[in-house]
Amino acid sequence: MLDIAGLRKNYADLEVLKGIDLAVAPQELVFVIGPSGSGKSTLLRCCNLLEVPDEGSIRVDGVELLDPQTDINRMRQRIGMVFQSFNLYPHMSVLANVMLALRKVLKKSKAEAREIAEAALARVGLADKLDSYPAQLSGGQQQRAAIARAMALEPKIMLFDEPTSALDPELVGSVLQVMHELRDAGMTMMVVSHEMRFARDAADRVVFMDGGVIVEQGPPAAIFGSPGHERTRAFLANFQ
Ligand code: ADP
Ligand code: MG
Repeated sequence: MLDIAGLRKNYADLEVLKGIDLAVAPQELVFVIGPSGSGKSTLLRCCNLLEVPDEGSIRVDGVELLDPQTDINRMRQRIGMVFQSFNLYPHMSVLANVMLALRKVLKKSKAEAREIAEAALARVGLADKLDSYPAQLSGGQQQRAAIARAMALEPKIMLFDEPTSALDPELVGSVLQVMHELRDAGMTMMVVSHEMRFARDAADRVVFMDGGVIVEQGPPAAIFGSPGHERTRAFLANFQ
């Protein structure tokens, strides 16, 4: 579903991604861990062309994102992105937030957009919050609304960048539960997070990044149980 090859990204003379090769199969959940500054967010942002890579290839469902012929706006619809900060429009109800992209991007009629948005919000447990404004919701509810907004566009893959890092601890569970449900429904996902328990329970593969490279990757049991590299061990020691 996602095939990244030889990906390089520099900011001026800072090499942030130094040749990343990473493929995510349909319905796979790939969990990316690594120290702050290792390039995780940059990797995700490149997959949506929020950052333009310097070199390499990114294929989504067979389409090369870096090909100038590719319709990037069309491809962006196929790649759902959820950030640490929820990025909901504060002056619009939750329902209107989800309807907006359906109306603007997918050109849905108002009635159709409303129907899809209501279903997406029901799916994340917000059926009774349609008319609430973001400020009236908890952080966990806002993040679930942001997930519903991304899912409403029926993406091929969902990218999550530390989706629970801004949440109070007691609100994390509701967001992880929604992510579990997406996974069980067969969504392809790449998740950057420090929620190691979620990785153990839900990830097919854990990728450890450090210094702009993938140091190692494998099934959660292998990476957490017997990491092959000292850098991975040192990083994981912070979570024990
Ligand atoms: P992570 O998400 O793993 O913490 P990032 O991808 O955010 O890492 O950042 C990797 C490196 O790139 C860091 O050194 C960061 O300071 C730098 N960086 C990220 N975004 C920019 C930017 N827009 N301009 C310059 N440097 C950046
Ligand atoms: Mg980051």
